[in-house]
Amino acid sequence: MAGSSLTESSGAPVGVLALQGDFREHIAVLKSLGADAVGVRRPAELAAVSGLIIPGGESSVMDKLSRLFDLAEPLKKAIADGLPTWGTCAGLIMLADTILDGIEGQQSLGGLDIAVRRNAFGSQLDSFETELAIPVLGETAVHAVFIRAPIVETTSSTVTTLAALSDGRVVAVEQDNLLGTSFHPEMTGDTRFHEYFLEKVAGR
Ligand code: GLN
Repeated sequence: MAGSSLTESSGAPVGVLALQGDFREHIAVLKSLGADAVGVRRPAELAAVSGLIIPGGESSVMDKLSRLFDLAEPLKKAIADGLPTWGTCAGLIMLADTILDGIEGQQSLGGLDIAVRRNAFGSQLDSFETELAIPVLGETAVHAVFIRAPIVETTSSTVTTLAALSDGRVVAVEQDNLLGTSFHPEMTGDTRFHEYFLEKVAGR
C-alpha cells in the first residue's frame, strides 16, 4: 500500500518528539512513506499532530528535557486522550508506567501498563542484531537492531505482545493507541513497523 494513502485521510502531520535522540531517522522513514512528518519540541507543535513517535536516545535526558520544556504534562494528556504514540527504545521507556533501573528521580510519561528495565542486556551485550518474528507485520522476519536496549519485564492483561526474543523476553507491545519496541526499526530500511504505525494513525 502506498504510504500517502495511509496518511492523507487525517490531514494533520505525524510528529516525532525531537528533544533528543534519533528523531531525524524516523522523520526520514515517515517521509519516504509519503507521510507529512514534523519534529515536535513545543506544546503547540504537539497539539497539531495526528500521531507521535518517541525516538531512541537516552530516556533520562529525554525525561529531563520534556519537563524543562513544559512538554511532559501535554504529552501525558495527549497519550491519555488517545493520540497514537509509538516509542522505540528510549521512547518505549518513556511510555512505560514503571521504569526499572532508571537513574535517580527518572520519570516516564506512562500509558503502557508495563514495567521496562533499562539497559537490560548489560555491558556484555550492549548492542546486537537478530531476526524477530512479528506476526502482525507478515510472515517475513524483521531484522531488529538493539542498542543498549530495554526489555519489557511485566505486562498487564490489556497489553498485547507483538514480539519476543527466542528466550521469551518481550521486545514489542501494543495497548490501545500505544506501541512500543525495544529495537530500532528506523535503522534497517524495513519500513513495515512504520507502515503499521501509520495505519494506526489513519484508523484513529
Ligand atoms: N539505554 C537508553 C536509555 O536508557 C536507551 C537506548 C536507546 O534508545 N537506543 O534511555
